[in-house]
Amino acid sequence: AILLIACPCALGIATPTAILAGVGKGAEYGVLLRGGEYVENARKLTTVVFDKTGTLTKGEPSVTDIIVFRKYKENEVLELAAVAEKGSEHPLAEALLKAANKADIKIPDAETFEAVPGHGVKASLRGQIILFGNRRLMQSNKISIERASESHLAKLEEQGKTAMLLAVNDKIVGIVAVMDTPKDNAAEAIKQLKDMGLEVAMLTGDNERTAKAIANQVGIDRVIANVLPWEKVNVIKRLQSEGKVVAMVGDGVNDAPALAQAQIGIAIGGGTDIAKETGGIVLIKDDLRDVARGIVLSKATMKKIKQNLFWAFIYNTVSIPVAAIGLLSPIIAAGAMAFSSLFVVSNSATLKLLKL
Ligand code: ADP
Ligand code: MG
Repeated sequence: AILLIACPCALGIATPTAILAGVGKGAEYGVLLRGGEYVENARKLTTVVFDKTGTLTKGEPSVTDIIVFRKYKENEVLELAAVAEKGSEHPLAEALLKAANKADIKIPDAETFEAVPGHGVKASLRGQIILFGNRRLMQSNKISIERASESHLAKLEEQGKTAMLLAVNDKIVGIVAVMDTPKDNAAEAIKQLKDMGLEVAMLTGDNERTAKAIANQVGIDRVIANVLPWEKVNVIKRLQSEGKVVAMVGDGVNDAPALAQAQIGIAIGGGTDIAKETGGIVLIKDDLRDVARGIVLSKATMKKIKQNLFWAFIYNTVSIPVAAIGLLSPIIAAGAMAFSSLFVVSNSATLKLLKL
């Protein structure tokens, strides 16, 4: 009887069966949990950080405004910006090229091209040096931004648009603004997380005003803007050093280090391969409500693991002494042993009933 009852089957399967059930349940919703570590961290989570472009927003920006200076025409500004963006893979570049195509502009190839991450692009064409990007790009090239340009920028940014400056031969000749709208479920997803008592923040390379405008639309209070691509990971580290347990939600190449650094990296399925490779949780559908689902499911899975371990442990610690003093027949002991394993398996299986 002791031999039978001491068999630690139930203890051994307590964790794997719960994880298996949790992973299966997640898969039904298109939420891929890629390891026990993330399931465990979900319980301690305090903060969820969202990337802006492509994660909170649809990632399909389109050109909304063109402002011209120095006798330049709108189409000229659009053309020069498109020339500079032709070699870029940034979503902003796509917006520019689409707008130029729509205006029937044939975009010549630039003679030289350079992408400056977090700043913009630099190109040359027929003796003209073209710079297209944000204030930082102009500042680092010692191009002064006049008061008129600055007030245009501010106005566009307050509307949640990303405004970019175009400079030709060191003079600002135009502004192109691009708008990306928040995903349909973004506001609801943020509310769910806040209702769970989590702090929600936005992390972006875009400027503060645009970021705040978008944040307002989706209900995020904390904005960390103007972050260079390679500094995103440091922002996560800083939050962690404040004692926060952080989940990072992102889609881009520049999000991958931050996804790896966060206790839970959540990658958007429509995002880049490297983000998906790095994320501990991958959301197959492009639905931000799955962030809350992933967290709820992880917590529920962890709870099952604990219940399983508790009951399996109780079973062994109570039954072994009873068997030892001869109060348990081997037949009952055999039944109890099977029962304890069955209990653990069925308890794990109840995860399937969870409504997410
Ligand atoms: P995000 O964090 O939103 O993905 P990035 O770090 O890629 O943003 O870029 C930050 C900012 O740098 C953009 O908002 C834009 O102003 C400027 N920028 C970056 N790449 C380009 C580009 N190809 N063309 C114009 N501007 C760019
Ligand atoms: Mg992004």
